[in-house]
Parts: sequence; C-alpha cells; structure tokens
Amino acid sequence: MKQYLVKPDTKVNLAKVDPDDTGDFKGGKEKGLTEIEKLNSKLESLQELLFAEHKHKVLIVLQAMDTGGKDGAIRRVFDGVNPAGVRVASFKAPTPEELDHDYLWRIHRQAPGKGEMVIFNRSHYEDVLVVRVHNLVPPEVWKKRFDQINEFERILAESGTTILKFYLHIDRDEQKERLQARLDDPTKRWKFRLGDLEERKLWDDYMKAYEDVLGKTSADYAPWYIVPANRKWYRDLVISSVLVETLEGLKMKYPAPEENLDGVVVE
Ligand code: ADP
Repeated sequence: MKQYLVKPDTKVNLAKVDPDDTGDFKGGKEKGLTEIEKLNSKLESLQELLFAEHKHKVLIVLQAMDTGGKDGAIRRVFDGVNPAGVRVASFKAPTPEELDHDYLWRIHRQAPGKGEMVIFNRSHYEDVLVVRVHNLVPPEVWKKRFDQINEFERILAESGTTILKFYLHIDRDEQKERLQARLDDPTKRWKFRLGDLEERKLWDDYMKAYEDVLGKTSADYAPWYIVPANRKWYRDLVISSVLVETLEGLKMKYPAPEENLDGVVVE
C-alpha cells in the first residue's frame, strides 16, 4: 500500500491519481471482501492488545469530499471491533463555543488516550479546507495553519500517538452518482442536502485545497494516504491493510500477569 503514501513536502496532483485504481490486487471485489474480513479479525485482536497494553494511542483521520465514503469505511473497517476501545469523533461546523476558542481546541480534547483508538470523521483539516474555500478566515490566517497542524501532530506523535491520515479519493462523476442514489432511495434521502449541490460546484477549489493539505502536511510521524475510493471494497481494503500493518509494527505485548499465579485455584 506504499504507493498511496504521500511523501513529505511533495506537490500533489489529484487529477493524476486514479480513483478507480485497484492496485496490484487481482482478485476483484469478491476476493477483496474476503481479504477485508481476514484483516478485520486481525484488527479485532490488535485492538484488544492495544487496550491491554495501555501504552500506545492511535489516531485515524478520515477526510473526503461529500459522499466520499467516510461513514461506510468506518462501518466496514471497524466492523466487530470492540466498541469499548474505539471511538469516533465527528467534526461538524463549529459551535459558538468552539468558535470562541482556537481551532485546535475542540480537536485536542478528542485525541486518543493510552490504549485507545480514535477515528476522526472530518478533523482540524476542515480549517484549511472548507474554511479556505469559503473564505471563512483571511488567507493570512489559514496559510499559517499548515505549520501549526504539523507541530500539533508532532506533539501528539511525540506523546505516543500513532497517526494515520486517509483522504478518500472519488471523482466528480462518482459523486454525481452517489448524490443521485441518495435522491432516488427513500432510505437514503435523509442524507441528501441541497447544500451539497452548492459544495459540488466548488469541486475544483476543494481539489486545490486538498492538494495543498496532502502535500504540506504529510509527515513520517503523521502520513497521509490517498485512497482510491470509487470502489468501496478497495477503499476499505487499503485502509484495513495500512491499519493492520501499522499496528503490527508497534510490536505490542500483553502486560505481564501477576506473579505466583501458577497453582491458583478459583473456587
Ligand atoms: P458529514 O458530511 O461529515 O457526514 P455533515 O453532513 O453534518 O457530516 O457535514 C459536516 C459539515 O461541517 C461539513 O459541511 C463540513 O465542511 C462542516 N465543517 C466541519 N468542520 C468545519 C469547520 N472547522 N468550519 C466550518 N465548517 C466545518
């Protein structure tokens, strides 16, 4: 999955990344789903180990355009993982109280503690995406945020947080289909907002903003992955693979049991 990793300080051109890509994976959807299931049961055990060891903290950041599949990815990748150890933090437009503080205030308090895995469904990156595209603050304000975010994430990383960031990459045609599907399906219609059509008109501005985010804020300690996401199964396969591989790399261990347990009888 290394091909989707963004190297630090690069110029990203999203038009050159194929959202339909399925990499070297030969099996197609059916085999993909089987593979995801296998990764899923590994993730279940790794999460238990993370909780038991109570040492590492894991932060997963998900960003995407509307209909990009953040919710679906969370559902599939974390299916069956013990909800006691995994938390989703969703970031909507800031409340008046949140706006009274700096933009990282609401983010930092949701960061994972020891043994915990937290998924950010949107994140502090909105403060250089939607905020930039809609001119919610002047350029001299949001431009400083790339460095600020890098430093913020460095603090988290140096305090024991493993950070993984995924941009789910769909194209404009795929978004059209997904929006239309929401309109057509009575069980999905509630997700459709007229405002989504206004955002869709700003697609190119968003792509430019995402390219800057990906190029300026991918770091060894907090890498971005550009995930081809037109095919949902491949999207989930990429995220699951990166996550499992990264957690395995932590070489976690169950804590040593109390001494002198041999011969103990539970009556
Ligand atoms: P989602 O699309 O993630 O499922 P919503 O439909 O409720 O959830 O959208 C959340 C909205 O909140 C998005 O339009 C997003 O751009 C907006 N938002 C998130 N963070 C900020 C922010 N810091 N400033 C302004 N808007 C934000």
